[in-house]
Amino acid sequence: MIPRDQLQRVVLEVAVASFGNAGFTRVQLREAVEVHLRTNHIWTPADDADSQSTDPKSKGHANIDYCISDLAHLRLITRIRRNFWRVGADETGDEDAPPDRIPTTVLRTVRDTALARLIKAQCKHLCQVCHIPLAQADGSNYVEAHHVRPLAARHGGNDRADNIIVLCPNHHALFDLGVPEFISPSVVRIAGREFTLTPEPNLAWANIKYYNTNKIGNKKAIGGKPTICK
Ligand SMILES: [Zn+2]
Repeated sequence: MIPRDQLQRVVLEVAVASFGNAGFTRVQLREAVEVHLRTNHIWTPADDADSQSTDPKSKGHANIDYCISDLAHLRLITRIRRNFWRVGADETGDEDAPPDRIPTTVLRTVRDTALARLIKAQCKHLCQVCHIPLAQADGSNYVEAHHVRPLAARHGGNDRADNIIVLCPNHHALFDLGVPEFISPSVVRIAGREFTLTPEPNLAWANIKYYNTNKIGNKKAIGGKPTICK
């Protein structure tokens, strides 16, 4: 039996990698996950025997369904469907569809690596764009690590210092939406105004170029389709 956390990871990866900028249904996601599992030999005939599925034609589906439900409960699947590809709430078809603003802390917590914590500390837990402190109950400031070139497999970003900036939730949202544009490795233009990122980040130019090229709002993006959203 595939460990549940591994299966959940595969479900998320397949959701991000398999559907381009089109929406998808639960059945499509389940089938894509199964194909991925079998073609990569992650799911073996022995796992079929352990499957909770009662339908012999859909061995393993019960477990995959269970993981999708779990992730939908955590809002991750719904978030991918709605925010990554801008699928409207009324198009998701999820009975438990959350409101427009949904928590994103689960994904970001997963990515809160030792490196991200180190870079946040180097920035004194202040947004590198606006430097406005966001105090938490314990007195510490809340900031988020943003990967300039997204980590999702289809984007190929890495979890290194040359791909990370520290942002407040507002500026993180703007970067997710592809609003800012880098005009140098340490200067971004937002709504016609230039901001110098301080402390100066150590971003790789390749990551900046990827973001500028593929971000939403860039009509010159490859194939005419901006790809970055998260
Ligand atoms: Zn900010």
